[in-house]
Amino acid sequence: MGRREEEYVTNPEHFALVVIGAGSAGKYVAQDAAESGWRVALVESGRVGGECPYVSCMPSKALLREARERRSGNRPGSGTRAWAQAIAHRDAVASGRDDGSAAAAVTASGVQIIRGYGRLVGPRRVRVTLADGAVRDLTADHLLISTGSKPVVPSVDGLDDVEVWTSDRLLSDDVLPASLLILGAGAVGCELAQVYSAYGTDVTLVESADAVLPQEDPIVSHALQQVLDAGGVRVVLGAEAVHAATVSGGVELRLADGRQIQADRLLAAVGRRPNVRGLGLHHLGLRDDEAIPVDARNRVRGAENVYAAGDVVDIGAFTHVADYHARIVLAELGVSGRRRDRDDRAIPRVVYTEPPLAAVGLTARSARDQHIDIVSHVGQIDETARAAAEGDGPLGKAGAHGGLVIVHADRRTGELVGAAAIGPGADSWLGEIAVAIRARIPVTTLMDVVHAFPTWSEVLSGAYAALGEELA
Ligand SMILES: Cc1cc2nc3c(=O)[nH]c(=O)nc-3n(C[C@H](O)[C@H](O)[C@H](O)COP(=O)(O)OP(=O)(O)OC[C@H]3O[C@@H](n4cnc5c(N)ncnc54)[C@H](O)[C@@H]3O)c2cc1C
Repeated sequence: MGRREEEYVTNPEHFALVVIGAGSAGKYVAQDAAESGWRVALVESGRVGGECPYVSCMPSKALLREARERRSGNRPGSGTRAWAQAIAHRDAVASGRDDGSAAAAVTASGVQIIRGYGRLVGPRRVRVTLADGAVRDLTADHLLISTGSKPVVPSVDGLDDVEVWTSDRLLSDDVLPASLLILGAGAVGCELAQVYSAYGTDVTLVESADAVLPQEDPIVSHALQQVLDAGGVRVVLGAEAVHAATVSGGVELRLADGRQIQADRLLAAVGRRPNVRGLGLHHLGLRDDEAIPVDARNRVRGAENVYAAGDVVDIGAFTHVADYHARIVLAELGVSGRRRDRDDRAIPRVVYTEPPLAAVGLTARSARDQHIDIVSHVGQIDETARAAAEGDGPLGKAGAHGGLVIVHADRRTGELVGAAAIGPGADSWLGEIAVAIRARIPVTTLMDVVHAFPTWSEVLSGAYAALGEELA
């Protein structure tokens, strides 16, 4: 018996790896490590699988699919009936928000799931408070913190006294409100605005910046705004909410310019913050009100054998980022894959509206902030043969095949540094640009890439050619 095994026998609460948070990042690492023979404890206070399968990505994508079908006439009948069908699809996709089969698969891989709230009581000591109030004290050779994020409720006068909905709650609720006020036109706000408006809800999307998706290139943000407008969403930009109050049957929001908006429901979609409060991070010398600082191998700065992954480190709150962090940590632990630094240059950002908006790498503004001299080109999707074959139409109308892509190349290196697109299938074909950025493929080589005819991705052939001319 090795030293480690002896330790496990004498102390059954000692593990090779303790993971706090069984979401996309934590579940992945725990399962792979256990399958490689590690003794693993996975501490989870909610559902095994975290947010994505039950209350975020999957139910929202299921509803967006139904909304798309409804807009294109494939879900006829009254809004209420079609909504009931959409909710049934959403709940089936989200496994009825039941984590039973996910938990069974994790347990089958050899992980010990401990259902309770975990917090640090020492650098690699975790105290878990179980549902019945009992406590378990775990120690670990290695610790992973993957506790995700929480929605931010903006500080607006009076908001504490009104009922504020978050996306988790809305995506678990069956009611189709007559009107919905969404604060924040980021990915979550835009997606849910499009869902509810498809079923006849009167949706107002209020954003303090002067564009929807204000972090993206203005040309795609503006195109998405047109799509939302055309779908009946009232988009109010540059609007500062100053006061909220409960009124009969709903909520009233007053804006700084004096306008008042009333709705049955108020959804706060102004962003999320890392879930760190109460975790006892001071035992690692860290603050409990900001993202966990990690190096390029997801090692927590200043703490030995402690890692953090996913939303809690706040480097792009996406499931594919959580998965990427998990792969980096698994390599670092020596479980699987080559040890390497993370590369954050080519992380895709997608909004699954119809049509989808996808972006990767830098925007013109972030390139400028980094003092990178770029050349850019805008390509129009309705100039592709595919758009002609599918039947043309202005962006935003049901059945339309318009859209655009903007690509940015570094003038000095001749390589792509970023792109954004809105249009049919953009969420998939923009992946090509993620590869180009990650692999630093020169534009001169990209100009030689053959895109199948007639595909949406042919818009990239024209864009690469135009960039090539500029760079020559
Ligand atoms: C509406 C919405 C739609 C989205 N759609 C997409 C999408 O289409 N594509 C995409 O890539 N991303 C999407 N995201 C983002 C995605 O959901 C997150 O980036 C992803 O789930 C993060 O995974 P994670 O492992 O970091 O955290 P989570 O999945 O949140 O897991 C963290 C887990 O830790 C547990 N936990 C927290 N604290 C403790 C504690 N102290 N003790 C024990 N357990 C604890 C929580 O209960 C939770 O289960 C969406 C988000 C929202 C809100």
